[in-house]
Amino acid sequence: MSRSHTYRCLNCLDATVTRTFDTSHLSRTCPDCGSFERFANEAVIERFESLEASPPAEFDWDRLERREKLLVAERLARTDKTLADFDVAVDEEAAEGRTTPEPGDA
Ligand SMILES: [Zn+2]
Repeated sequence: MSRSHTYRCLNCLDATVTRTFDTSHLSRTCPDCGSFERFANEAVIERFESLEASPPAEFDWDRLERREKLLVAERLARTDKTLADFDVAVDEEAAEGRTTPEPGDA
């Protein structure tokens, strides 16, 4: 058996899928909530949960919407970015230029 990685639905945060490859996220239709969603790597979810548990003082974490928080958590978990690289208004994926920005975040 190869090592497996768990990915969690960012809409319901309930459904998980397991894959053998390690990537930041998948996009698929959720079997639980039926939404076509981003499924984040469990490492991203863990980072998100730890930030939720103890928001960083220098970062206006609670002003972010959940989706924005998850995007930040994803960067922190999957890239060498730190909180210092983020403004409160999260600079969407455009800065990174490797995935498609999602519309709708103010
Ligand atoms: Zn779901």
